[in-house]
Amino acid sequence: MQDDTTVISLAGVRKRYGGVVALAETDFTLATGARLALLGGSGSGKSTLLHLVMGLIAPDIGTVRVLGEEMTPASMRSLRHRIGYVIQEGGLFPHLTARRNVAIMSEHLGWERDREKKRIEELRELVGLTRDTLDRYPSELSGGQRQRVGLMRALLLDPPLLLLDEPLGALDAVVRRRLQKELRGIIVSLGKSVLLVTHDAAEAAALADEIVVMAEGKIVQRGTIAELTRSPKTPFVAELLGDGGAPTTEQA
Ligand code: ADP
Ligand code: MG
Repeated sequence: MQDDTTVISLAGVRKRYGGVVALAETDFTLATGARLALLGGSGSGKSTLLHLVMGLIAPDIGTVRVLGEEMTPASMRSLRHRIGYVIQEGGLFPHLTARRNVAIMSEHLGWERDREKKRIEELRELVGLTRDTLDRYPSELSGGQRQRVGLMRALLLDPPLLLLDEPLGALDAVVRRRLQKELRGIIVSLGKSVLLVTHDAAEAAALADEIVVMAEGKIVQRGTIAELTRSPKTPFVAELLGDGGAPTTEQA
């Protein structure tokens, strides 16, 4: 099951909160280098799956393996250094400048200043922010800028795996479409394995090569956007993709 070609595997994993089944017993794998979107409505268990992969929560039953290791309290810390995690609007600390938000892990790990400076400069160019932007506080940045800073932070340690939770969710439609293209360019150029969460079929299609549709804590269907559009397994999948899932000329 788990080898060099698999970056994430969930085997018989379930998570409940009281009476709510956030994730029903689930098997899931992500191949190394793949870019996959979890697509579903609010409360369908997308973030729960991501949190399990990040080791932020533990499963009630089943096994989570990431980058060849089982996620356990003992392996969690070192694994998290190899997973880049971006949450909505970047999830930045409001009392730290953008630069210090990006540098949280390098400060924690005691990097030399030169190494840190060089890495931040590389990432700043990659995401296309100006230098002065990094000296501002999150409240002084636009939603798109905050998202880029969040991406810089997630990439700081050059993790092989990126988890993106509604990365563009808070942005208005025009900015969102532009950033979708840019973000896709960045993740493709870096060649990382990517698991992202979105409720927006167009975004899933723009950023990922494969889609897993979720509803009520279950995986409903998995396939490429073309496969899901051509043969949706349930009316729900058809409806979800009907809302602009297939790439349209408007998007291009
Ligand atoms: P999604 O990301 O698809 O919107 P989530 O994975 O966040 O959905 O949530 C799935 C279900 O689990 C929802 O019903 C949600 O209310 C519930 N849930 C998630 N996290 C918690 C929590 N920490 N405590 C209680 N219920 C939770
Ligand atoms: Mg969520």
